[in-house]
Amino acid sequence: MATKKRWLSDRSKCDLCNADISVGKVKYFVDGKVNTCGGAWALMCPSCHDLYGVGLGLGIGQKYDGMSTIPYLLEGDEALKR
Ligand SMILES: [Zn+2]
Repeated sequence: MATKKRWLSDRSKCDLCNADISVGKVKYFVDGKVNTCGGAWALMCPSCHDLYGVGLGLGIGQKYDGMSTIPYLLEGDEALKR
């Protein structure tokens, strides 16, 4: 029985474009690796994840519900299956 992970840290802005990703502003946000900056991690809004994200999965990116105060992990807690 795995307990769903939740995002407990503060979130207000996308690290990349400064878009407002606070509660209710976006459907989801992603904490993940970006395809620039040598694989740095960033907190991203949906558009930035489309542009710069490298996917969802362990060690790649985690997608969280943007509508809740304490967001649940939606996707990204499993290794990528290819
Ligand atoms: Zn952004």
